[in-house]
Amino acid sequence: MTPVLGLSVLVLSGCGQDGGAAADAPPATASGSVALAPSHGGLSGGNLVLADTGGDTKDPVTARFGEAEVECAWDERSSRHACTAPAHQGPGTVEVSFSAGGAEVGEKTSYTYTTPGTQDVPLLRVDTETVRSNAEAIRADYPMGLQLGAVLKNGEPVGVFGKVIEEAADVDYVFVPKLEDAISLREAGVEAKIAVLYAAEVEDIPLLVHYDVEVPATDPAWVEAAEQVLATTGGTLRTHVWVDTGMGREGVVPEEALPLARAVEDAEHLELAGIATHFSTVTAEDGAAIERNDTANTTVAQKNRFDEAVASIRDAGLGENALIHAGASDVLAEEIEPLYYDLLRVGGMFFASSPPETRLYSWTTELTQVKTLPEGWCIDYGCTEPTTAPKKVGIVNHIPSRENELTYTVGGKQVPVLLDHGTVVTLDLSEVPEAAAGDEVQIDFSAEAFHLLDATAPVPVTTTGG
Ligand SMILES: *Cc1c(COP(=O)(O)O)cnc(C)c1O
Repeated sequence: MTPVLGLSVLVLSGCGQDGGAAADAPPATASGSVALAPSHGGLSGGNLVLADTGGDTKDPVTARFGEAEVECAWDERSSRHACTAPAHQGPGTVEVSFSAGGAEVGEKTSYTYTTPGTQDVPLLRVDTETVRSNAEAIRADYPMGLQLGAVLKNGEPVGVFGKVIEEAADVDYVFVPKLEDAISLREAGVEAKIAVLYAAEVEDIPLLVHYDVEVPATDPAWVEAAEQVLATTGGTLRTHVWVDTGMGREGVVPEEALPLARAVEDAEHLELAGIATHFSTVTAEDGAAIERNDTANTTVAQKNRFDEAVASIRDAGLGENALIHAGASDVLAEEIEPLYYDLLRVGGMFFASSPPETRLYSWTTELTQVKTLPEGWCIDYGCTEPTTAPKKVGIVNHIPSRENELTYTVGGKQVPVLLDHGTVVTLDLSEVPEAAAGDEVQIDFSAEAFHLLDATAPVPVTTTGG
């Protein structure tokens, strides 16, 4: 597949002073000063934005953030106009202009809306055109008659990913890890079937019915509890029976598949929409191993367990219309046809790109500080590896610690990390002697993990005890 150079760029989470203006939007800085502080924020708005209009009025001004207008009073403390950011539909950069009494005031600028996230974290941009061209390439080569499921488990903006992939690859299903993602997809207008992988809470059933979302049936007790709620909501909940055939993760062990399928089929308001498993160890050799039924091969063992479980359900006259699905990107890439069944759940393939030529995720920040440490200088707690000679270092900040497989590039050179405390990261700049504070730092996900970003959603926190 050939990812094209991206045109459409979205911003995920924000930081820094650069404002993250898209190429076609005016710069966020005017005459050297930051025009908006901050120059980015979450989609729900509500945050204070202090605006330097460049004009000289202390009278209230009207600010237009894209299509939305807000009134901004003069703030004596900051000598800026104080606006409350309006909410916005999706991530991206909007033009901001100011007016008073119908006449334009000062300079236009821009404001970048991000998905919910910690705004100090460096601004991450997603190139939706890469996703689109990947999706087109997957569809173009996809086996005829086989249903296509897209697996979106790499976080925000899940609604945008879902829309782009549905448009470009005409997917039958979208699979997501969380109900919240499923809701985002429906709110974004995705019309394909949507199924939550792994697990669903009984208390969420009214939402599942409302948004037409399918879920796994965990076990017969879950089915019974679900049926009680569904008897009050009405409607039918489409469920999938997942069989753990040797992954040690979601699903019931094979002998429990039939009793679970029976419980689902016996429940008035539940439907057996699918029977599924997930392979742990797909390799290029599996096709041949399946042909000679080499049961020492892990995939063959899993396939046989799955086929038996499906047969036990079907032999009992159940799940006749259930969709059988098992394979993921690896099965498609290796073209292992006996594992195709009715549908493949393809995740990673939609998010393939090859930095530095093409980047799906552009994540940049800047060196906040550059200095040369003397010889014998401690680095990190414990002082295990003091410098053996003067060493040039640079600091970057607010890199989520969950992203542990990152590379940093400064001045075109990948540089080692000397210390990583998340909010403070020290880079070894020995190989880039010309680097200076303010220089751009390109952050990339490691080649193996870059497409599986799963750190964009902040952990919601609440307090008790007053
Ligand atoms: C992640 C996942 C997939 C997709 O796997 P890829 O290798 O990303 O295509 C499919 N099914 C399940 C159950 C998964 O967890």
